[in-house]
Amino acid sequence: MNQLPHTLPAVVAAPATRGDAFAFVGERLWLDFVNSEAAEPGTDALEDFDTLVEWLQRAGVVDADRAQGILRRAQQQPAGAAAALTDGRRVRAALRALAEHGAGGATTRAEAVAEINRILGRSAGTRRLEVRADGAFVRSFVPGGDAFAGLMIPLVESAADALILGELARVRRCASPRCRRVFYDGTKNGARRWCDMATCGNRAKAARHRARRKR
Ligand SMILES: [Zn+2]
Repeated sequence: MNQLPHTLPAVVAAPATRGDAFAFVGERLWLDFVNSEAAEPGTDALEDFDTLVEWLQRAGVVDADRAQGILRRAQQQPAGAAAALTDGRRVRAALRALAEHGAGGATTRAEAVAEINRILGRSAGTRRLEVRADGAFVRSFVPGGDAFAGLMIPLVESAADALILGELARVRRCASPRCRRVFYDGTKNGARRWCDMATCGNRAKAARHRARRKR
């Protein structure tokens, strides 16, 4: 691991129970990214750039070394980091529209395709093959120009996969009216209703139980 100035936030040591923006219940990366907007008041991973990088690391989009490199660059280039955060919010809004209305809306799909291509069209860096100290070979990605330009690429690639594979009809919003989470329904009979049985599903069950007892 790289030596770091001690002023950097401890990305790697983030507790496992951060706000529900870190729940990863969407079954697809792009849907998890939509859900990085907190379902209920809590942590929004796009509240600041550092939280976005932490989210990307927890989602497995960047590894710990790259996350720390990005945070270092963000300290050197705060304006670039702020622009990347704004860009992330824009991408997330487009992906939410695709998740919620894409299956039935040709216009929504076309707008999402334009947004996906806006991100994919960037020349964000180069891929390299490198030899590690132990002799093993690893693929790496060297960001070029704007250090932050490539951050959204894996997320929009995931959305592109959903379009290519025809998955939109199985993308649902949680049945709880208080919950904004979206997910891919991978059940055999297409009957998944809740983002998470442990939270929304359980609350619905408890509410039904209370209603029965009142009668
Ligand atoms: Zn829910």
